[in-house]
Amino acid sequence: MKLHGIEVVRVEVPFRREIGTAAGTHRTRPLLFVRVVAEGAEGWGECSALEQGTAVDPALGAVERALADRGVRRLLDACAARGGHLPEGAEVPQLFGSGAEDRVLAATFEMAVWDAGLRAQGRSMAEALGVAPGFETMPVGAVVGIPAGRDVAVVRAEVDAAVAAGAARVRLKIEPGWEVEPVAAVRGDHPDLVLQVDANGSFRGDEEDVAALSRLADFHVLCVEQPLPPADLVAHAQLAKVLPLPVCLDESLSTTRRVHDALRNGACAVACLKPGRLGGVRATRSAHAACAEAGVPVFVGGFFEAGLGRSSNLALAARLSQEATGLVSDVGSPSEYLVPDPCGYPAVVDGWVRVRREPGVGPGPDEEVLAGLAVRRRWYRATYT
Ligand SMILES: [Mg+2]
Repeated sequence: MKLHGIEVVRVEVPFRREIGTAAGTHRTRPLLFVRVVAEGAEGWGECSALEQGTAVDPALGAVERALADRGVRRLLDACAARGGHLPEGAEVPQLFGSGAEDRVLAATFEMAVWDAGLRAQGRSMAEALGVAPGFETMPVGAVVGIPAGRDVAVVRAEVDAAVAAGAARVRLKIEPGWEVEPVAAVRGDHPDLVLQVDANGSFRGDEEDVAALSRLADFHVLCVEQPLPPADLVAHAQLAKVLPLPVCLDESLSTTRRVHDALRNGACAVACLKPGRLGGVRATRSAHAACAEAGVPVFVGGFFEAGLGRSSNLALAARLSQEATGLVSDVGSPSEYLVPDPCGYPAVVDGWVRVRREPGVGPGPDEEVLAGLAVRRRWYRATYT
């Protein structure tokens, strides 16, 4: 497939409601898409970066600059070296480096090039990954943030709504001083709910923290996710030895190498893998293989994706679930947090969602929806053709 050019599209989509985490509050979701236009097919990639970066994940603005500075050029050069033809999706991550922005770019371009190839072949991502019958329908979980003013009634109402919608698992965001109270309240309301907590690295691991986090075991919390800042795997390994509930890592697992390090150190008993952060689907499958070998269950985490990125995560979660674990991935509908989702997503029915069978990775952004939102577009023509 000869490449004609690459379009970069940035669009601002409002969140349905403010998203509060220990790392900050998000009101809108700027989304960045790339479209590769080739002879006979085109494909879309969705960038996972959020507006505000963290210690681990680059901000969307930084990724957008890297995209313009070198991302687009890398793919154009790779095509030029192949007589104008697109590389295979599997080759795309190799065009990028190991830094945080490059990993996001690798994931975005891998998706776009793979999407174009699958559309040309008339194959779905699930088919290409080998999602087996019986694994095509995934349970949906919910994430409940830290409410303004730490109002426990708000958390209880959100959990009630998620459970009523069929959520198979709820992950509560916690931070120091806001852990036992919401967990106790939710457990009181829902004795059998599968409950996880996510601290986004906000604890320090002192005696007070250990005491508070240990109490969560009394409420049958499945695991505590990213209790400490992401850089310190050794501290997580030490904490894991004294906590009476499993430690899950998320932000610490920024590269496949870090996943190997965490497994070797005993720093995580559960892993949240994020394709956008790790550098794409193939990098995530490699990280998953290491976790499976170590007996560490995995779930696929999200970055408030639109329907395209989430469809990719859904097909991947379906495939990974064949070698793991029963944990619930973040595969709920983007319409729960974006108004509107510019891409669309399969309907969630009674807490279950079915992987797409249409050709490609997922639905690209709809032109009519884009027309109603604040959009910036730039076209890079492949000049060698
Ligand atoms: Mg997390």
